[in-house]
Amino acid sequence: MDDLKYYAVYVEFDENNSGGYWRLSSQDYQKLEAAGWVVDYPDPLERRRGRTATTVQFVWARSEDEADTIGGDLAKRHWEIVLGRNAGEPGCFCCGRPFLFMVDKVERVEIECDYGKDDDHGDVH
Ligand SMILES: [Zn+2]
Repeated sequence: MDDLKYYAVYVEFDENNSGGYWRLSSQDYQKLEAAGWVVDYPDPLERRRGRTATTVQFVWARSEDEADTIGGDLAKRHWEIVLGRNAGEPGCFCCGRPFLFMVDKVERVEIECDYGKDDDHGDVH
């Protein structure tokens, strides 16, 4: 096995009102929340639609850069499955894409495999 390490990739989603309108509804943000995304509501009391949502993806990769790419792609794919929309929607050509995804940070996660370390298994004579 290659030198794969485990990473937590934090991905932020932002909505851009390309063409002068917002694409996602309050229900869309509720779907994202139900699927584990953390939605930042501009007005928490009203819990209207958000503009930003974040998620963390756990991936195996050879480097931080690779984890960044894989985690970013996974987050987009997850978002697409949850919402049934195209994350790469082009939007208005002067305003740019309506859906923006950015890897916020990548953290190496140390995990220890306990297999074979207790007396129940692994100690074969
Ligand atoms: Zn425009």
